[in-house]
Amino acid sequence: MIAVENSNTSIPSNTQLKAPEPEHCPGPESENAGKSDSCNGCANKEICESLPKGPDPDISLITDRLSSIKHKVLILSGKGGVGKSTFTSMLSWALASDLNLEIGAMDLDICGPSLPKMLGCEKESIHSSNSGWSPVYISDNLGMMSIQFMLPDEDSAIIWRGAKKNGLIKQFLKDVNWGKLDYLLIDTPPGTSDEHLSVTTYMKDSGIDGALIITTPQEVALLDVRKEIDFCKKANIKILGIVENMSGFVCPNCGGESKIFKPTTGGGEKLAEELGLKFLGAVPLDPRIGKSCDSGESFLDLHPDSPACDAILDVVDSLRDIVEAND
Ligand code: SF4
Repeated sequence: MIAVENSNTSIPSNTQLKAPEPEHCPGPESENAGKSDSCNGCANKEICESLPKGPDPDISLITDRLSSIKHKVLILSGKGGVGKSTFTSMLSWALASDLNLEIGAMDLDICGPSLPKMLGCEKESIHSSNSGWSPVYISDNLGMMSIQFMLPDEDSAIIWRGAKKNGLIKQFLKDVNWGKLDYLLIDTPPGTSDEHLSVTTYMKDSGIDGALIITTPQEVALLDVRKEIDFCKKANIKILGIVENMSGFVCPNCGGESKIFKPTTGGGEKLAEELGLKFLGAVPLDPRIGKSCDSGESFLDLHPDSPACDAILDVVDSLRDIVEAND
């Protein structure tokens, strides 16, 4: 089994904090570690005060490793259950259908990795060599990396605190040998947590093209999307656009469309307009999407006549227009 580093930052790997970092922790690796107001009363204060400070040397290794990747896109959602990983899988299939492109998909949902199943490679494992960890290849031009490939079996639970999760994210960015890629799609867990902060910090010099935000039409999902957008602004991540998923239902028998999750405040399109962001499209719910994901097959190949397939391909075209505008 491949070992995972036990540190999220430049903290020496043999350093153990006495307690989990509290909510407003500035980061044990930061200049203010052990000195900020949040450190008063924290059990780690003494350890953090004595840790070496300064820039994380791994960031330059990550920047170097990712320099052969043309476009890096984060896939974000405010809320869980909006179909973010499903959309990432379809985006991967769609981009890889252009055989001139080399695509990588990185699953950063450490506690709930679902992308390998959706891409039909959940039983694979990681191979390492002198040049790093090799991605698992689904086709000649589509590779992926996920913690799923490191688990003893597919039902094993990951119960990790922030530091260990972030250590793995750093290894994924630093050690995976993607070779030359046109796109690296980074599927993140819902919300704005350790994983998001880590990936944006570690990739700060690598040039993230931006974030694609997935939502559903209901206000309860849009509320969390607003927080995600705020996170992107604070982290200086450009928002490439918003996609509304599960926008209506396509009957697989008659092909007719109806609304299941009715937008009460205008849905993703209205939100995009309100915030001055691009709305990249609305993808209807089609039960065959779930079925294709369960069997690890491309919905786009299996049901090219579905309205959902057209909608997904339109979103992918719009995304490519934005991302490749300056190529
Ligand atoms: S003492 Fe360390 S762990 Fe505790 S809040 Fe400060 S930086 Fe964070």
